[in-house]
Amino acid sequence: MRTTVSIIKCVDYDPPSVQEAVRRAVDSLGGISAFIPAKSSVLVKPNLLMASPPEAAIVTHPEVVRSVIKLLKGINCSIYVGDGPSVWGNEAGKEDEVYEKSGIRRVCEEEGAALVKFENKRWRKKFPLAAWLDKCDCVVNIPKFKTHSLTLLTGAIKNLFGFVWKTHKVELHKKYFDAADFCKMLVDVYEEVKPALTVVDGITIIEGDGPGTSGKARRAGLLLAGKDCVALDSVLAFIMGLKPEDILTTKEAAGRGLGVCDMSSISIFGERLEDAVLKDFLLPSASLQSKIPRPVIELAKKLLKFYPCVEQDNCVKCALCAQACPNKAITMKRGKPVFDYSKCISCFCCQEFCPHAAIKIKKSLFARIAGL
Ligand code: SF4
Ligand code: SF4
Repeated sequence: MRTTVSIIKCVDYDPPSVQEAVRRAVDSLGGISAFIPAKSSVLVKPNLLMASPPEAAIVTHPEVVRSVIKLLKGINCSIYVGDGPSVWGNEAGKEDEVYEKSGIRRVCEEEGAALVKFENKRWRKKFPLAAWLDKCDCVVNIPKFKTHSLTLLTGAIKNLFGFVWKTHKVELHKKYFDAADFCKMLVDVYEEVKPALTVVDGITIIEGDGPGTSGKARRAGLLLAGKDCVALDSVLAFIMGLKPEDILTTKEAAGRGLGVCDMSSISIFGERLEDAVLKDFLLPSASLQSKIPRPVIELAKKLLKFYPCVEQDNCVKCALCAQACPNKAITMKRGKPVFDYSKCISCFCCQEFCPHAAIKIKKSLFARIAGL
């Protein structure tokens, strides 16, 4: 089986440049009509993790969303844009703020697309997903290219976690606290959603301790498109200097036959893949945890620990980390967050949602001696 991914250079978010890059990325794959039938109702899903301005690179840039909307308008689609922001720090109830600050509301108003909230749900096998999936004919996925402390990459497949209904995301974090199990669940979501087209915002990305404020923004100048999310994430892994199977969602999805991760079976249109590779790419601090063989983890899990801690100088004592923790391992004492490590499941949601990058990842002494 062969599949195709397009990679187009785009140096910044100047609207005409982004529109041209998105059009070229999709046209090189056969054009928007090759993915979406004319006059369809389309649910557009950017990454709107939290109330954050576009320049922080935490959310999909609104100009990329605008460019996709323009393509869909060109074939007379009815367009609905939405995301289920993370529940950490109660963002689930703050969609209006998320939509406003990310610039998505303005773009939807200017382009005449409907901005929707994922209020209702329908159970699909193991979890409730946004009912908007049932109301629309197809999904266009617009992830932001970012690192992720638990899953290494948040790209084409991980972006679909936003379809999980509101607070149920917390339940899934608690239930699947092991990274491998969590990634299997993400692939279950991918199997349910199966976007018709994915356009990746890789113009400014997050490296290091992403996907939130602790990561570092970096200009990569890339736009990618394709239908096969497994192939797209494989290409992103390559750009990060990794192998596709290093990304557990990619490995799992390819193993289930949901897409292609063999780089020799992925045709690249546009830029040469070798030219897109980002030198000295910064992986998350906890990334080496995923390299430990599972039997070793079972034997030495108390010793090989990666755990969060607070840099007091940056902490403004807002308590969002305590609200974000799915296992209630953080309590505020005398205004400061205090960790109960016996409850910590190393999900790093607290780091993801600290608005001041005050949570760092520490390694246990044994993990440091083991060279992790
Ligand atoms: S660590 Fe971050 S989220 Fe937690 S209280 Fe301090 S500033 Fe707020
Ligand atoms: S303390 Fe942080 S890493 Fe530990 S369980 Fe809570 S949110 Fe997850």
